[in-house]
Amino acid sequence: MIKKNKYNSVLAIAFAAGLATAIGQTLAAGAGAGEVNLYSYRQPFLIKPFLDEFTKRTGVKVNVVFAKKGMLERLKREGANSPADAVLTVDISRLKAHADAGLLQPIESRTIEKNIPAQYRDPNGLWVGLTLRTRLIAAARDRVKPGEIKSYEDLADPKWKGRICVRKGGHVYNRALVASLIAHHGEKKAGELVRGIVANFARKPQGNDRAQAKAVYEGVCDLAIINNYYFGKMKFNRKKPAQQKWAAALRLVFPNQDGRGSHVNVSGAAVTRHARNRDNAIMLIEFLSGQFTQRMYASQNYEYPVNPRVSWDKEVESWGRFKTDTLSLAKIADLSPAAQKLIDRVGWY
Ligand code: FE
Repeated sequence: MIKKNKYNSVLAIAFAAGLATAIGQTLAAGAGAGEVNLYSYRQPFLIKPFLDEFTKRTGVKVNVVFAKKGMLERLKREGANSPADAVLTVDISRLKAHADAGLLQPIESRTIEKNIPAQYRDPNGLWVGLTLRTRLIAAARDRVKPGEIKSYEDLADPKWKGRICVRKGGHVYNRALVASLIAHHGEKKAGELVRGIVANFARKPQGNDRAQAKAVYEGVCDLAIINNYYFGKMKFNRKKPAQQKWAAALRLVFPNQDGRGSHVNVSGAAVTRHARNRDNAIMLIEFLSGQFTQRMYASQNYEYPVNPRVSWDKEVESWGRFKTDTLSLAKIADLSPAAQKLIDRVGWY
């Protein structure tokens, strides 16, 4: 599942064909010559603008391999021969999985510590959050009144029976949300809550986040649980204008504003254990944590900067300022296995 792209198609094809050694040689040939090699789950349109800027400012060339799947397995298989110096990926559980597999090395950087709040960094420096997203409730504009639903806990209220759409529980987005419920309520109470939410489903979980928005638009359900950026991606989708209607049908509810705040997750970066261009990799991540890139990176995808000194994109700002849950992502990652067990137990699949 490798995406070809105009500026690194050769590497992408080699990667897709499983020619790890070939890539290793291609990339290693340039090692030490002012380069940095990146494995990315993030799409070209998102990262190309600031990678170009990074090269312009530092002279360091960035080679990117884009992947949709299998990055962790690839890194494991490549071991010490891996050409990758850094990885870019989404979701705390994926970052943690790379850390747990021993594929990363700690980053020490004053710049990163200054730019990124501790709750969005690994306590041991193994990963760093770079953009923030929140998991919110998208309510049918014409069928749910403002203020009628306010929290994740409200989703378990029997009044919503047959009215909620959400993707499968085992997806990383939902697993992290459940982990946050465990952190705040303990396993027993969280189990009851999630059981209550599942009992309110309008249909068997299916599709991705956008599919839930579509279902609200079609009247299948009145509430969906989605990541905030999909709202922007649908609202401005020129290639698939139907999605603009799905977005128009929704009112965004930032949950738990009277309490702990909305659950957030990150996309992030890490330096690989065997990085040959370690200093360049750290320099790149420092650049990603700074003013210029934070604003650009976050707004490209309707996300929020992790750097609290960086202003928000006008569009996402227009959806509302909101309070974020201050629970550390490291805690969410730790509770991820317990969350998955809970999801299996209550049958959210
Ligand atoms: Fe997503």
